[in-house]
Amino acid sequence: MNQHVSHWIDGAPASATSGRLSAVFNPATGRRIGDVGLASTSDVAAAVDSATAAARVWRQASLSRRSGVLFAFRQLLHDHADELAAIVTEEHGKVLDDARGEIARGLENVEFASGAPQHLKGEFSEQASTGVDVYSIRQPLGVVAGITPFNFPVMVPLWMAANAIACGNAFILKPSEKDPSAALQLAELWKLAGLPDGVFTVIQGDKEAVDALIDHPDVAAISFVGSTPVAKDIYERGTAAGKRVQALGGAKNHMLVLPDADVDHAADAAVSAAYGAAGERCMSVSVVVAVGPVGDQLVDAIASRLPNLVIGDGSTEGTDMGPLISEAHRDKVATYISEGEDDGARVIVDGRKAHVPEEGFFLGTTLLDHVRPDMSVYSDEIFGPVLAVVRVDSYADGVALINENPFGNGAVIFTRDGGAARQFQFDVEAGMVGINVPIPVPVAFYSFGGWKSSLFGDAHMYGPEGIAFYTRGKVVTARWPDPAESMIDLGFPRTR
Ligand code: NAD
Repeated sequence: MNQHVSHWIDGAPASATSGRLSAVFNPATGRRIGDVGLASTSDVAAAVDSATAAARVWRQASLSRRSGVLFAFRQLLHDHADELAAIVTEEHGKVLDDARGEIARGLENVEFASGAPQHLKGEFSEQASTGVDVYSIRQPLGVVAGITPFNFPVMVPLWMAANAIACGNAFILKPSEKDPSAALQLAELWKLAGLPDGVFTVIQGDKEAVDALIDHPDVAAISFVGSTPVAKDIYERGTAAGKRVQALGGAKNHMLVLPDADVDHAADAAVSAAYGAAGERCMSVSVVVAVGPVGDQLVDAIASRLPNLVIGDGSTEGTDMGPLISEAHRDKVATYISEGEDDGARVIVDGRKAHVPEEGFFLGTTLLDHVRPDMSVYSDEIFGPVLAVVRVDSYADGVALINENPFGNGAVIFTRDGGAARQFQFDVEAGMVGINVPIPVPVAFYSFGGWKSSLFGDAHMYGPEGIAFYTRGKVVTARWPDPAESMIDLGFPRTR
């Protein structure tokens, strides 16, 4: 069994005081490999105290010093990527190559944040009025917290922490209790990079820790990524407490395939995006919307590819798809497949009957055809290796279907017709749009976020909107008059 997984407060490991534990599993073997101590409200208070003191000092660090720490952290992440990937694979189950990919995407965010001196530049208007200059500056919020999901234990924390810290805040991470160890590795790397103690904190826990962070008066902002019901609750509770909140929720991402699309390209993309990470990505494609005659060919092409996928322990090189995060989740996904079958969907490939390793939380790939919007396999986020195909007659029917769906994280179109693709980008109600790209996760110099039930709040995450979220604006109006010109004027100042 692994070591007990602790918090990280004031630059060192710290034990939970609640006495409550949560088991950590290796999903590929089904074995319990460790425990994580769940925070009490007083653990959170200690973490916030440390972060508050650190934030006061860190906001005074020069931009070049902050940038220097980020550069050093970027190099350490790069150097320790394999070690981190192994931790992710052991606790999450995703294949090593995928884990390395998430680290690479997280690292991009650190690179972006290293440019803080550029991102934090204000504006200056000389002579805005006679002898008066006006300029804007952006300042950190103080202590900010990030609550992250199990499916990206490195990348999502870095979406938040890199910008938050670059902007001069102290950041408290509350990672998922299902795969808590990567957060501690990140903490050690921040320390090695020269970040002062208390600027990056890890508090392990569950709802109690999250509620304590939201309710704490010294936590100024909350970034959340996870499921829609929790995102909505956190947004409502956080904003009611007067905090800045960005809460990214779940998804049901559609891939619209027009009749002129290259079927092999679309099938490769659908398989990669639906079954990568066993479908446990918020940007997974979970619905293919096939327009007219392309449906039969596309379903055959997808089905023919599935037997070639190697399903097994993600730590073995050459594995394409690992297990699901837990036994309960695996069983829930299997129940959805049964419901889909009962509701009349055609089961083309049945993951429940696949030959997969007996130990561990494995499920094979499933392809369901002739799915209708009234079925639970369509309406609910399944978060597993299940791809639903919905048949429609036209582009307009396909877009209407996508726009009626309550989620709006990502939506993609496959076509050779540039005009149709441009119309899709104009019409579709989703925050991230792909054109012949199945997983349109923006690069770090743009921002990431969905629409509708996929995001509560105003700000998308990372990139320029991340910088805006983690700072507040201040505008200075300055005048250096000759004392001889001083006079009393009770009128409201006019700009002249
Ligand atoms: P989750 O909502 O169960 O948990 C997310 C975080 O919230 C965890 O840290 C967890 O400990 C905490 N939490 C859980 N229940 C809580 C509660 N009742 N009150 C307060 N905190 C609570 O999500 P998950 O299962 O870890 O992750 C999968 C979900 O995350 C999926 O819905 C997926 O679509 C979504 N996700 C969204 C994005 C995005 O960018 N929109 C990215 C990744 C994952």
